[in-house]
Amino acid sequence: MSDTTIQIVTLVALCVLAGSAIAMVVYVIQLRRNNRTVREHDRLWRDRLYTCPSCGALMVQGWAQLGRGIVWAQRRRGRPGGLSSIGDTLPNTQSMHLRMASNMAWRCPKCALVLIDHKKMVN
Ligand SMILES: [Zn+2]
Repeated sequence: MSDTTIQIVTLVALCVLAGSAIAMVVYVIQLRRNNRTVREHDRLWRDRLYTCPSCGALMVQGWAQLGRGIVWAQRRRGRPGGLSSIGDTLPNTQSMHLRMASNMAWRCPKCALVLIDHKKMVN
């Protein structure tokens, strides 16, 4: 390979890397803008007692850390496929903070049901 070819390949590789980095920064900024995060406080839990929709027992308050977020689809549209993008996640379910934000959640251990609040995340 000639020096000129090596220089062109290197330049193309650098452009691809720079483009990927810029796309990632834009994505993270957009994601942070679309996610509402609040500080943890006891008042968040005030009047937030829920009963299990299956057995009627009081659900246990807790936190859910959702990692890559919740990809949710209406039943009639079919299950989300492997090509679901990160942009398909429900709002406020994907944390991009160094200290991962969590969602308030309620769980019925007996029925293995979880109720998740995704109006906001808590950090
Ligand atoms: Zn239950």
